[in-house]
Amino acid sequence: MKIIHSPRHLGHSGHVELMNGQVVPAFEKPERVAMILNAVGERPFGTLIEPAAHGLDPLLKVHEEAYVRFLASAWQMWTADGRDFPALPSFWRAPGMRTDLEPESIDGKLGHFSFDAGCCMVAGTWDAVQAGADSALTGVDLMAGGEKSAFALCRPPGHHAHAATMGGYCFINNAAVAAQAFRDLGAARVAILDVDYHHGNGTQAIFYDRPDVLVCNIHADPAQEFPYFLGYTDETGAGAGEGFNANFPLRWGTDYAGWGAALDTACTRIADYGPDVVIVSLGVDTYKDDPISQFKLDSPDYLKIGARIAALDRPTLFVMEGGYAVEAIGINVANTLEGFLQR
Ligand SMILES: [Zn+2]
Repeated sequence: MKIIHSPRHLGHSGHVELMNGQVVPAFEKPERVAMILNAVGERPFGTLIEPAAHGLDPLLKVHEEAYVRFLASAWQMWTADGRDFPALPSFWRAPGMRTDLEPESIDGKLGHFSFDAGCCMVAGTWDAVQAGADSALTGVDLMAGGEKSAFALCRPPGHHAHAATMGGYCFINNAAVAAQAFRDLGAARVAILDVDYHHGNGTQAIFYDRPDVLVCNIHADPAQEFPYFLGYTDETGAGAGEGFNANFPLRWGTDYAGWGAALDTACTRIADYGPDVVIVSLGVDTYKDDPISQFKLDSPDYLKIGARIAALDRPTLFVMEGGYAVEAIGINVANTLEGFLQR
């Protein structure tokens, strides 16, 4: 299995987030990737390669042009005001306010294009984001060329990003960009299996009215957990996409018995769909010691997750999402890939 990764992710560092009402260093940090690289490097998984540049066109297939333009220019606009510290959104609209106008002010734009204070930007953020998307797209290229699987080690993650909204550490939705790229290369049906602890609200929203991309999410119940406002069972798709979105919310404290049962149901759903390719939004923040999560999966469980996904017997692209227990993130990712490859 090829592992696609760019050291340019290191440009996205020194950023902060708002937690418990305080500004703190972001849990989503470069050390996460270092631990994953160490762990997969210790096992015979294959080779590490750097992504090829794909430009902005594939991103614009799932993201709005004004949003991508904002991401590309935000840091320059923020620092033009003389600020030399990370850019953090802090103004949002309430229902009833205008949604059709993009403010001129960078402070207004930050609110216009975000749904929380989870997407802090620094000088190297946009470059890191582009390298992450290129990693996912390079994975698509490899599989279009005949590889049965690939692992896009993207950072920052992507599954919370909507077509024109950043949030939850995510700027460009790497899995969605990859899904669209597979479609454009001729895949009739793509399934996205999101196993991150948090609901992949952006991925769901991007494909919500489309039958050509099935989105299955296993995640913490949004009644208890971020992103709070999407991820319930009655969200099943709209219009032509009705029936092609499936959510499996689980309560805090869920261990592998409950989680694995949901995975089994989701995989059955995917098998019935008959996709040409499966994209796995691979978050390992389901781990019992994750600092911002409340599930109880243990490291050996990730071997089982990989094996269950492998049983789908479909070309599979893994795209890295969350996981914040830095000491264990590498082992848990490596276990997932090992379980997948050994079956
Ligand atoms: Zn997550």
